Amino acid sequence: MEHITATKVKAILSQKGFSPLKQLGQNFLVDENITTAIVKAAGAQEQNVIEVGPGLGALTGKLSEAAKKLVAVEIDRGLFGYLKEALANERHVALINQDILKTDIEDLYKTQFDGTDVLLIANLPYYITSAVIMHFLLADIPLKRMVVMVQKEVAERLCAQPGTAAYGGLSAMVQYFGRPETVMKVAPGCFYPRPDVESAVVRLEIEKTAGEESRRFIAFVKACFAMKRKTLVNNLIKAGYDKTAVLTALGQANIDEMARAESLSSETLQILSARLADKRQSMGSTVSETHDCE
Ligand code: SAM
Repeated sequence: MEHITATKVKAILSQKGFSPLKQLGQNFLVDENITTAIVKAAGAQEQNVIEVGPGLGALTGKLSEAAKKLVAVEIDRGLFGYLKEALANERHVALINQDILKTDIEDLYKTQFDGTDVLLIANLPYYITSAVIMHFLLADIPLKRMVVMVQKEVAERLCAQPGTAAYGGLSAMVQYFGRPETVMKVAPGCFYPRPDVESAVVRLEIEKTAGEESRRFIAFVKACFAMKRKTLVNNLIKAGYDKTAVLTALGQANIDEMARAESLSSETLQILSARLADKRQSMGSTVSETHDCE
């Protein structure tokens, strides 16, 4: 596949009669230095790779040169059709025309890969960034690393330390799985059309696998961060945890009764989650399991 440039992206869009769809987060990478750097930062050489949203193939082309096997999932039927033709000769590349959030990742992994580790590498559509990240982290597959382009503010949240303005539920949930780090910042001029925001590439080495325990922790974090203005104790009581058990767990961990979840590290929240594992009396009325803690 030919390498993508701004001129080429514009030419393909006009030849095919495509207009970039804002609602699908279609800001295409047009700087080859960035796609090369992402592939390098991800260590994609000879690896199994899943890409979300291949678009016009800026990253896909580079990934297909490096990867052992590449599976790319694109929701847009027009872009999918274009890429299918462009990559017709690449037998180690599979393209799937589907919404990634409706894709059963475990099933996709089983049907496409050989049981060895896989990487998620993507320039993510910004309207579903954190949902996609959590969708992969909670899938029971041997995910070794993710390297994703996200909005700069989301990168800051992913990597934030407790007690800072950027720290929240998303930080605590993602930091359960490993230590996210920003590997590069990317200016709006590297995309067509230019997004209104700056971007950053975040790398996460995955140290914990998904399973019952991680799902329990994620539900616990959602409860802890459900209402920003409330204390941790109040949020947990609202979610149905026994008040005495919560106060005891906080005391044992030397945490002030007035503390808010925003001041606690992912590790501390894990300790509390384990101590309170069987102390939820009823489902609280306001904590939805799908609350995304953004
Ligand atoms: N990878 C390309 C690049 O870097 O130039 C395109 C990235 S663009 C930011 C995001 C891509 O994700 C678009 O191609 C868009 O159509 C696709 N997309 C948006 N929502 C999606 C979804 N729910 N499932 C799969 N792909 C999606």
